[in-house]
Amino acid sequence: MPKRASPTTSTTSVRASGHAKPGSPARTPSRTPSRSSRSLATYHAKRDFTASPEPTGDFAKRASGKQRFFCVQKHLASHLHYDFRLEHRGVLLSWAVPKGPSLNPRDKRLAMMVEDHPFDYGEFEGVIPSGYGAGIVMLWDRGTWQAESEAEDLDVALERGELKFRLDGFKLKGSWVLVRTKRDDARSWLLIKHRDEWAGDVDIVAFAPLSVKSGGDFAHILAADDPDVWHSDRPARGGLAGSMFSSIIAEAAKLKLARAEGRPGRARPLTRRR
Ligand code: MN
Repeated sequence: MPKRASPTTSTTSVRASGHAKPGSPARTPSRTPSRSSRSLATYHAKRDFTASPEPTGDFAKRASGKQRFFCVQKHLASHLHYDFRLEHRGVLLSWAVPKGPSLNPRDKRLAMMVEDHPFDYGEFEGVIPSGYGAGIVMLWDRGTWQAESEAEDLDVALERGELKFRLDGFKLKGSWVLVRTKRDDARSWLLIKHRDEWAGDVDIVAFAPLSVKSGGDFAHILAADDPDVWHSDRPARGGLAGSMFSSIIAEAAKLKLARAEGRPGRARPLTRRR
């Protein structure tokens, strides 16, 4: 079975036109990005920008040189996950990594490819009150990335399902690989650290849990917004995410109250990065 829609399996377009050509617009949309399409249509379709503070992506950025932007956003929504994003062709290729990245080369972290995000999403940190991805977004790491082999066409590597690259972030560095799994879901990849001087046993998501943008945790980010935003309708009730929301909302309310009363509340958010 083909891992992704090909022009020959796209029966509707074949019937409609009679002679659909490879790469014609009738192909599967950006869910499985192909080399001819880097579109934000799926990103836009999932969101209501009158209700969400997320960037609309009106301002695309042109890549300059080999060093491109990467980031990891820690996202507490219906489940906690880490959104891993690599700049490519003016947008951010995106994978949702449920357990987050690991510095241990033995760990193969599941990474579900999701829709391309706008370039300016990469600096986003804040609260999504409702709709798709409702919850709290923290900018957990950022920096630059480059392909291991500069000669290789990145679109070819994506099609093949194996992308080797180097990261230079605050928390993540050195050589990594993303490989598509052989399972039926074409969106399913693995994020793996290569063995090098930046590999190790440190549990990086536990060791360096805070924002590289604000220095804060989820409660600080929520306190800077509105701790009461989900008074009727939390993004998650049960499970780990549900209990995280409960304690984060309570902590954020305390922080906000302390600030309003002119008390520092808890110690200032840590700014150290490791
Ligand atoms: Mn996410």
